[in-house]
Amino acid sequence: MLDSYLHVKHAARPDWNLIEKKWRNIWDEQKIFESDPDSTKHKYLVTVAYPYPNSPQHIGHGRTYTLADAHARYKRMRGNNVLFPMGFHYTGTPILAMSRRLVSGDMDLYNTFRNVYGVPSEVIESFNEPVNIARFFHQEIKEGMKEMGFSIDWRREFTTIDEAFSKFIAWQFNLLKKKGLIIQGSHPVGWCPRDQNPVSQHDTLGDIEPIFIEYTLVKFYLNDTYVLPVATLRPETVYGVTNLWVNPHVKYVVARVGEGNEPMWIISHDAVLKLKHQGHNVDINHEIDGTKLVGQYVRNPITQNSLPIYPASFVDPKDGSGLVMSVPAHAPYDYQALLDFTNGNSSKEMHNHEIVKPITIIESEGYEGDNVVPSQIIIERLGVEDQHDPLLEKATSELYSHEFYKGRLKENTGKYAGMMVSEAKDLIRSELLQNGIGEILYEFVKKPVKCRCGEECVVKVLNDQWFLKYSEAQWKDLAHECINRMDIVPDEIRSEFNYVVDWLKERACARKSGLGTRLPWDQGWIIESLSDSVIYTAYYIISRYIHFDDDNNIPAQNLTESLFDYVFLGEGSSKRISEETTLSEELICNMRTEFTYFYPVDTRHSGRDLVPNHLTFFVFNHVAIFDRAYWPRQIVVNGSVLMDGKKMSKSFGNIIPLRQAVREHSADTIRVAMLSSAELLQDADFSFEALRGIRSRLDDIYQMGIHLSSSDNIQKSLKQLYHSQDVTESEDKWILSMMQRRIRDATELMDRLRVREVLHTILYSMEQDLQWYNKRIRSKGRFDLLVNTILSMFLETRIKLIAPFAPFLASEVWNSIVGDAAKIKEDLDWPGVVEEYTDPATEESEDLIKNLIQDIQNILKVTKMKPTCVNIYTSAKWKWKVYQRILELIIANRNSSLSDVMRALGENSEISQARSDVKLVKKIMEDVLSIPAERRSLKLNIKNLDELMAIEDAASLISSELGDLNLEISVFSEDEEEAKKNDPKSKARSSRPFKPAIYLI
Ligand SMILES: [Zn+2]
Repeated sequence: MLDSYLHVKHAARPDWNLIEKKWRNIWDEQKIFESDPDSTKHKYLVTVAYPYPNSPQHIGHGRTYTLADAHARYKRMRGNNVLFPMGFHYTGTPILAMSRRLVSGDMDLYNTFRNVYGVPSEVIESFNEPVNIARFFHQEIKEGMKEMGFSIDWRREFTTIDEAFSKFIAWQFNLLKKKGLIIQGSHPVGWCPRDQNPVSQHDTLGDIEPIFIEYTLVKFYLNDTYVLPVATLRPETVYGVTNLWVNPHVKYVVARVGEGNEPMWIISHDAVLKLKHQGHNVDINHEIDGTKLVGQYVRNPITQNSLPIYPASFVDPKDGSGLVMSVPAHAPYDYQALLDFTNGNSSKEMHNHEIVKPITIIESEGYEGDNVVPSQIIIERLGVEDQHDPLLEKATSELYSHEFYKGRLKENTGKYAGMMVSEAKDLIRSELLQNGIGEILYEFVKKPVKCRCGEECVVKVLNDQWFLKYSEAQWKDLAHECINRMDIVPDEIRSEFNYVVDWLKERACARKSGLGTRLPWDQGWIIESLSDSVIYTAYYIISRYIHFDDDNNIPAQNLTESLFDYVFLGEGSSKRISEETTLSEELICNMRTEFTYFYPVDTRHSGRDLVPNHLTFFVFNHVAIFDRAYWPRQIVVNGSVLMDGKKMSKSFGNIIPLRQAVREHSADTIRVAMLSSAELLQDADFSFEALRGIRSRLDDIYQMGIHLSSSDNIQKSLKQLYHSQDVTESEDKWILSMMQRRIRDATELMDRLRVREVLHTILYSMEQDLQWYNKRIRSKGRFDLLVNTILSMFLETRIKLIAPFAPFLASEVWNSIVGDAAKIKEDLDWPGVVEEYTDPATEESEDLIKNLIQDIQNILKVTKMKPTCVNIYTSAKWKWKVYQRILELIIANRNSSLSDVMRALGENSEISQARSDVKLVKKIMEDVLSIPAERRSLKLNIKNLDELMAIEDAASLISSELGDLNLEISVFSEDEEEAKKNDPKSKARSSRPFKPAIYLI
């Protein structure tokens, strides 16, 4: 049987589509993924950001869901009562916009649907009704999820435009309003001027979150007849301004801004638009060339100093006001620009202008002293070359944050002298604003932000809009608390969450158009898509009662606010609610019980792009509505998927619909490829070559399974329990021990969701283990029952470990072994480590053999010898004692020196002889230092390895690996007389523990 297994590599490939279909049916019939409360088991609620069905899933969409599913399956295999629900997000304007584009004859969009996704033309025609788009792709995506094998409890499915769901959202919004967290007012939002609607990530091209920040516009005065406003994030540096920069190639405008009681402003055309959107009246009087401003002088509104205006082509009219203030001492860009100008890079522009000197106004650690210019120091330290050097960005942010946290204002800053920058910054800003010499200007952090309609978005100050008050300090505190006690995977992203919580301000939560739920108190508004999808994870728990089936749905009008209060908050009495809603008291109590059983969310999976919006809102809304016991416990964030190194996009023509990929490559292959090619936060690079490689590995595992299971002995052997004393052969002990190591590693890695490494362990490390084992048994000619059993155990372990990733393969092979599909849920559990089989000494001795073979092969390669005999000398006992002593010393102190070691060896008469062989001691020290630290103590426990026996046991393998079965392998211990007789070159002397000496004849 074994022999046949070894020759199965070229057998026919399995038909995965058929196998997948079979298992989908079995899972469905057995309702294996339908989870109900079960007090005997730990519950585990897995959720993923639900899909927006405006196009089918392509490969790029699959990663987050696949990771969540592998996570769900892993937790299920570990005995948890896992619930993995799914819904569909219809809310918002993108579906409306898409329908409109089709109606208006957009052939580009039509062809994408028709040719890339293969949507039938009559179906596309029905898309003139927007909801038909959502319904169609909803089904497409759902089928794709089933085909991928996602272990979803479909009884809990809903869409965000279901009437019942709208009731739930209205409840959520009324609750937030009662708590004072929804307000009406004037606040800035990202805005599409064409659509006349606020924009969020869902509405922008490239799904960019429109993040903006608040600048201070500082007003400089030209002859008191003009205002030259300049935008800055560091208003405190107004004391250090040496000059303004103006772009001589730009046409500026002279305009009346505001009520008209101050001089006219000089600003760029772009700045006019910005100011208008942000609530200022602006009347353009006339245009003025930038060159006209060059050489003029302005007055600093704070210091009253007179400052020159210099020409600079780097000034972008789209940034701020189109004018820039120069603070060379504290802004590395300004310093470098000044340097480049005076060094002649732009000497033409600088012609005839006096050279200004930087004014240092902040002192901080490392930047102290009278003539110190911080920008200069940091520029020189980083080696910045010119003003186009990307290092300037680094210099700027480093100096900015250093001075913000550690800087103190110097004497030349008037009443602020001696104050910390972090403290003075806001005071100076308030002074500017209060005295009318400063204004607020909002700017996007990353520009341009484009709406899906193609229009460039702006920051608009909206009046009478409804806002979620994410600026509320107490709310922020709770959100921080939740984030800080939550498990965030990977942890490095935690600070990003805290940053977003700090940064978030009021956020527009309603729109005038789109699909969704109307604001309960102001029906002219529709709740926007990122606001109605923050606590829907709670709705999953009860949705199976509401959408029971077509005949037994709970009518939406029975879903009262007091019902939701009872189910989600535990408020009120079930009896009274039963009377009010006409629902049975039992049903109401069941909903409450189910909620308290399954909530909170144990893990939430999402792509990294949702950190600054959805995931943070998810936290905010949970802490506002639910008790601490129901706050989410974990967030897992992953990177996106690239195709052959490129972002997937229509313009690259590299979009691959998920369902098509499953048909062509099998679901398991795609699942494994998605999760094995990158660390969590990295982008996963997909390629067909990688897919083929993975498929062939999975096929090999399948073949091995099918062949082993066809053996008569398999049933018996699998059930037979072996005790370690029954196992005597080194390779058997070794592979059993390695299995435990692989299980331990995979479990630890899986707990931290380091799935790439888990898959590497299963697919590659275990493959190497298997190959080594095969070599060992073959060289001994073993084909016994024990081998058969051990191979079955190995297969069993591997199948179990791979099951969360390749569930179809695992189910099929498992079933072929056990032959009972009905029990697959219980039997296919995550393997535990059997300590009895753990055998570090045997792992070391097999490593010894591997290294020995490699050493001999290297010698043969170098010497080109054709030996007839190989003599191997293992080291004397006293050398093992020396080795142990050195190991102890280095474990205790990694930096032990040769003299420390020599001294320690001298303290023990048994090993003091080693002191006469400094070379040997040095070599042993090197050996020990080259062992990974975590393995050192393991080696210490091994004490004395019987190398002689290990090598003799593997003699036949050594000769076969060296390609000569007649090669005579002789092993001697340095301690024995026999060794001296057979050691003409005194090789035994150089032997060391784990490093036998070799002599070829
Ligand atoms: Zn637009």
